[in-house]
Amino acid sequence: MWQKGARCAAQFGRRFAAPAAGLSAVSAGTWFALKQQTLACEDKSSQSDEAANAMMACAALAISYKNAQEDLVKAKQELKRVQDKYDYFWPRKIMMLFGAPGAGKGTQGPNITNTLGLPQLSTGDMLRDAVSAGTPIGIRAKEAMSTGALVTDEIVIGIIGDRIKETDCGAGFILDGFPRTIAQAEALDALLLTTGERVNLILAFGVAEDVLEERVCGRWMHKGSGRSFHVKFAPPKSMKLDDNGKPLASTMLDDQTGEPLYQRADDTREALVKRLDQYHEQTIPLLEHYRPKGIVKEIDGGAPIKQVTTAVMNAMTKHNMKH
Ligand code: AMP
Repeated sequence: MWQKGARCAAQFGRRFAAPAAGLSAVSAGTWFALKQQTLACEDKSSQSDEAANAMMACAALAISYKNAQEDLVKAKQELKRVQDKYDYFWPRKIMMLFGAPGAGKGTQGPNITNTLGLPQLSTGDMLRDAVSAGTPIGIRAKEAMSTGALVTDEIVIGIIGDRIKETDCGAGFILDGFPRTIAQAEALDALLLTTGERVNLILAFGVAEDVLEERVCGRWMHKGSGRSFHVKFAPPKSMKLDDNGKPLASTMLDDQTGEPLYQRADDTREALVKRLDQYHEQTIPLLEHYRPKGIVKEIDGGAPIKQVTTAVMNAMTKHNMKH
């Protein structure tokens, strides 16, 4: 501003020195004209100042953009260094959700994923995807799955072996529904041993069997997200009942997307009997396989959901991990 004032003052001085000397003799009209010229001069000057200021602002912006780019490159290099360090020296956090069908593994898994950022690897979900995509594995698994029988160890060991090599498993992962037999557990242990790793924590959800039946038979799923609803405990907002009090399938829609929900082919009373038999015979013995390692934490899965979530979070904290 001082430059603008100085420039106008100089021009004014040069052009109007004489009239200014005899101020009293100058008419009001002359002074008005003088004033107009001075204002016009100030206006032009202010336009060029605005241009100069805009150029300065652009230059400052360009400098700060360049600095931000350099900071970003440095931050990426630092991130890579830290990632490499953890990849080389730290074992991954490998958790297992253990429990009968309907025990709450699928409900609690996403909370753990949100808290720790680890992916939940559900062999059931992977197999269902393979079945609906009609892949060779899906074709082989389809019949066993629809009746509630287990698919072969070879198939599930293969899909988990491939999945845990993916980059999103770099910091660890949450196993859901695997292993289910001693052969699968031994194969998993052997696979992890090749990278000096082991399962670090098993959350074992215990739920009474009559509760399991009610949970499983009233369950409706959203395919895209894996979200689960329940006709009694967590009905979708859109649910309407028919005259017999049964939910109308066309009104079972996902709360977030409005897409149709579905019931799993094996979420029936008959299939559940088979699934529970196989759980007792083949899966429960895994707890004795892992218990001596001091990594099994029992969770009361029959408690209200919020209480179960709190118990899960407590079981995962470091001071509760000591054995
Ligand atoms: P889930 O969603 O965990 O209840 O699994 C659904 C179905 O997928 C099971 O009833 C089995 O037919 C099959 N399945 C999932 N995981 C395994 C596994 N680890 N071993 C064998 N079969 C499995």
